[in-house]
Amino acid sequence: MPLSLATKPTKTDSGLVGPGSSVENKTGSWRTFTPKYDEEACNNCLMCWFYCPDAAIKRLEPPKKVGFDMDYCKGCGICEEVCPADAIEMVR
Ligand code: SF4
Ligand code: SF4
Repeated sequence: MPLSLATKPTKTDSGLVGPGSSVENKTGSWRTFTPKYDEEACNNCLMCWFYCPDAAIKRLEPPKKVGFDMDYCKGCGICEEVCPADAIEMVR
């Protein structure tokens, strides 16, 4: 990408690129695997929230713990890897 395009959101044939473009680009369309969440097993440690590269995991008001935004979850499985309580399983 030319450096000049990196300073503002710019429409291209491949979609919006540049700063702020991540809100418009719904990475959930990339997903093959989906996180299946077990709220009973979750200890609310927030490791998944911290590590999710797409900020697709949201902190919820108690007594709920975390929620997944499927518009942006691209199914990478990092949340499953870092969860110490085995509360997340990636399913096809
Ligand atoms: S699968 Fe990846 S993108 Fe989806 S919630 Fe987990 S860490 Fe985030
Ligand atoms: S990493 Fe696992 S235990 Fe921690 S908040 Fe996320 S789902 Fe819950």
